[in-house]
Amino acid sequence: MSASNEKNYRAETRLVHAGTLRSQFNEMSEALFLTQGYKYESAEDCELRFSGKIPGYVYSRYSNPTMDMFEQRMAALEGAEAARSTATGMAAVTTALMGLVRQGDHVVAAKALFGSCRWVIEEWLPRFGVPCTLVDGKDLNAWKAAVTKNTKVFFMETPTNPTLEVYDIQAVADIAHNAGAKLVIDNVFATPLYQSPLTLGADVVVYSATKHIDGQGRVLGGVILASEKLIVDNYHQLLRQTGPSLSPFNAWVMLKGLETLAVRVERQTQTAGKVSDALAGHTKLTRLIYPGRADHPQADIVKKQMKAGSTLVSFEIKGGKEGAFRFLNGLKLILITNNLGDAKSLITHPTTTTHQRLTPDQRAELGIGDGLVRLSCGLEHADDVIEDLLAALDKV
Ligand SMILES: *Cc1c(COP(=O)(O)O)cnc(C)c1O
Repeated sequence: MSASNEKNYRAETRLVHAGTLRSQFNEMSEALFLTQGYKYESAEDCELRFSGKIPGYVYSRYSNPTMDMFEQRMAALEGAEAARSTATGMAAVTTALMGLVRQGDHVVAAKALFGSCRWVIEEWLPRFGVPCTLVDGKDLNAWKAAVTKNTKVFFMETPTNPTLEVYDIQAVADIAHNAGAKLVIDNVFATPLYQSPLTLGADVVVYSATKHIDGQGRVLGGVILASEKLIVDNYHQLLRQTGPSLSPFNAWVMLKGLETLAVRVERQTQTAGKVSDALAGHTKLTRLIYPGRADHPQADIVKKQMKAGSTLVSFEIKGGKEGAFRFLNGLKLILITNNLGDAKSLITHPTTTTHQRLTPDQRAELGIGDGLVRLSCGLEHADDVIEDLLAALDKV
């Protein structure tokens, strides 16, 4: 096996080459190792590998060459010392949080969270004696005020789903560290190309690789990135013993997805920018949110910590749910679904899908009106996407 891990190459180059391991056959494309286990040369070799005294793969629940390539490529892209892959984004988030807490500890999180993340924080962790406080992520004083002597973790996503609010990672990291807590960032919406939370002071970054990293709607996966010490001390055993592992097949799909990540995300972001310019001020809309625009409420933070605005645009249609449904049903090209980051342009109505579990008051508090929709721009020609949106708005 040989690895190519040139740390000095730019992101686009690392996406294609970093972490590649080649077998004795010198295959060009990354190999798919569909194997549960590994054979040993001798009983002595087996004993030494089990004890960790000599390196080598032991069991694919926690180590496999294809998973390894995906993890090394992600670590090289993110500038992280270490990475571990998981079966889904939620396995990554749940492990990232549970690995840092024990009974009696306390978590502070921004309340604008992906629905399942919010469930883990609000419903699941408290069952194990880990209470949480939810705050408005924009309000730095609220983060400070929520700290208790037991606070061990701060958690947030930025930009948020679906209102694309942007929070100051560096400022929140400082507050976390002053409190002796670690900051975990869900970086799905920014992608590893547009925001590097570890360089802004975050301790752990998680992704749902299901989104832009696969990027073609095929498989689920996740990844946790952090220092070698955090991975070893807080995550390695938890992953090894509980087994929320990424399958080698899915790791292989993700590796091939990474090769084209930069070209896809750049093109989707261009389209998102064009869409937001075409829709801004439209008479059928009450609001349009795109982090790449100068009129974004946190444009100063976007400028400070993001390289570009993301592949998603959210907007509110006049007439609440009825208006939004008329608009969604008028679309011909853009598909109604709940995923994002796909080659196909996708649209979601959060009130009736991803955020259905919340009460109307909780949604109002997050700025999720009944007319709000979230568009994930795909790889179609931007003009076809814009024409589809404008034609459907005519029907509202
Ligand atoms: C999709 C998503 C997740 C969960 O990922 P899965 O792969 O679906 O488990 C977590 N956070 C954010 C921001 C997401 O968009």
